[in-house]
Amino acid sequence: MGKTKRLDKQNFLKKHPFCCFCGGTKPAEEIDHVPGRVFFRDRQWPDGYIFPACIECNRATRYEEKVIALLCRFNNSNETEIDHAEFEKMAREVARHDPEFISDIRPLSANETRRFLRDHNIEKPTTITTAEIPIVKIGDIVNKSVRKFGRKLFLALWFKHTGMALPKSGAMRIVWMTNASPAIDDTALIAMFNTLNGIPPIIKNSRHLHDQFTYRYVVTATGDGAGFFVWFRQSFGLLCTMAVDKSMIKNDPTNIEVPF
Ligand SMILES: [Zn+2]
Repeated sequence: MGKTKRLDKQNFLKKHPFCCFCGGTKPAEEIDHVPGRVFFRDRQWPDGYIFPACIECNRATRYEEKVIALLCRFNNSNETEIDHAEFEKMAREVARHDPEFISDIRPLSANETRRFLRDHNIEKPTTITTAEIPIVKIGDIVNKSVRKFGRKLFLALWFKHTGMALPKSGAMRIVWMTNASPAIDDTALIAMFNTLNGIPPIIKNSRHLHDQFTYRYVVTATGDGAGFFVWFRQSFGLLCTMAVDKSMIKNDPTNIEVPF
């Protein structure tokens, strides 16, 4: 690390002395990028998305990030050559190191795709065959990873927009979807979605990165609750409600609490 970078890190940690991922009481020792660099084309991550982390939290989701970054690239409508090369490289790496993930994500068969299009009232584009339509089916291993990944993502966004770490009493409720998921039928989440009026700029060196990562959010006037809808590459979305006290979140066995 160069001298300027080391100083930047020291200053950042001086300003934000506690890890924002485990309740805000453990000293931060590292700077974490959320979403990780692996989510961005050519590893160009947006300005302002760095967070104070203890060593344990910084490393907690490495495994999950790699796989979810791959998942986000399954359907990229404006694919560049860089995107394509990155996708191939990531897919090879995941296949080599985490083969169980690959077996947990599989493309729908032509018959399943046909049924999917019919159930969703979508007309097949005439330029491609049914088998070429990139819809994937996902199992439990991926589901668990998404929850772990989502927990960290929303703790970071909470910190960014409230200026505080979510305390250990806090909790969140996450619903996630791919472009192949059925519509959400959770009325509480849909009502929350309609209140999201914050749209932050996602910029690196004055270039917009919204095609890769974008979100809307709202923080309650009292600062004790927030809602987010995050979308990666038109492929993968997460909707989240969170609060400083778990009793404020609709009770559900899938809710995620701060300690993990
Ligand atoms: Zn931590």
